[in-house]
Amino acid sequence: MKTQAMTEQLELYGCIQCGKCTGGCPVARKTTLNIRSLIYYMLVEPELKVDAHEELWDCTSCFTCVERCPKDVRPAELIIALRGQLVEGGRIPETIGAALMGTFRQGNPAGMAREDRSAWTDSREVKAAQDGCDLLYYIGCTPSYDIRAQPITRALARAFTVAGLDFGTLGIEESCCGNEIRRMGEEGLFEMLVEENGEMIRAVGASRMVTVSPHCFNTFKNEYGLDGIDVLHYTQLVAALIEQGKLELANEVNKRVTYHDPCFLGKQNRVYDEPRAILQAIPGVELIEMDRNRERSLCCEGGGGRMWAEGTNLEERLAFQRVQEAADTGAEILAVACPFCLLTLEDAVKVRGLEEQLRVMDIMELVNLSLGEE
Ligand code: SF4
Ligand code: SF4
Repeated sequence: MKTQAMTEQLELYGCIQCGKCTGGCPVARKTTLNIRSLIYYMLVEPELKVDAHEELWDCTSCFTCVERCPKDVRPAELIIALRGQLVEGGRIPETIGAALMGTFRQGNPAGMAREDRSAWTDSREVKAAQDGCDLLYYIGCTPSYDIRAQPITRALARAFTVAGLDFGTLGIEESCCGNEIRRMGEEGLFEMLVEENGEMIRAVGASRMVTVSPHCFNTFKNEYGLDGIDVLHYTQLVAALIEQGKLELANEVNKRVTYHDPCFLGKQNRVYDEPRAILQAIPGVELIEMDRNRERSLCCEGGGGRMWAEGTNLEERLAFQRVQEAADTGAEILAVACPFCLLTLEDAVKVRGLEEQLRVMDIMELVNLSLGEE
């Protein structure tokens, strides 16, 4: 697409070059990525030489720039569109190419076998959503395959069973939601996933669907056009089940806990209260806030395809800063509600040698402890 056409389509003309986007960008101080100056080039140059901007792959799609812009410009969408040009021309890092190919062939960016997508159940009986159910439980790629994330997936299935919900999954027919695929610039593959997944989801006939990951939640809620289906992140559903008295959290978990707001749940979808309500409902939990919380939360650097980008231009990973902020509160547990946050922050705790002090756990792992032995 020509620069002018892209500028018009993305409505960049509203930009007043105030720099609030770059000022809020968590990676701008650490790499050469400067979203304000990219917009400036789009406004004044007939052509942007996109090949020369390898820093485009440093963007985490956190959308802090969108949140901060006073003129309702959506700066992050420019990065996605420019990545699209790189993808179209085949000028992409090898690992990003492998993630796109894995999704095309096996329905997940890691390229794991489609037949193993239900391995997380560990031989538990889970109903097929295709047979009809009230609640569609969409698992997602990392929660299906990653052995560190699978306990969250199982804990949710257990909680839904305890609460007496009629839920089902798509089993091995489930494919990647495409949230990161779109943000890596592969619009064509994303559209294919929207069509195939959308058709399958509508055919279930459930009035509600719930996701493990805020990334899946974001795209199903905002980009799929699933009219008539209430798309929920698990923290919203679990908080409601506790409130309705359908989940009894009886066991004490005597820990000081701080909570990291994921970008795709917090800033991008304004779900701030429900994760905190769950933590506060667990007997014994003392919730302590980090200074940067809610819309000011620091990105963990796991979004926008960064999970599959090889290496980094960042001098210091954002996750390193974040775990230090968590440790400085005196918390023993850093609670998360996103599988990418879990993996990046847990890795950062190890690299930083903070294991004695701080443990990273998903909120559902804490809920599971409070529910007691299975
Ligand atoms: S914050 Fe908005 S108006 Fe200001 S420079 Fe960035 S895109 Fe332009
Ligand atoms: S989405 Fe986040 S990382 Fe990307 S340009 Fe905007 S603020 Fe920076």
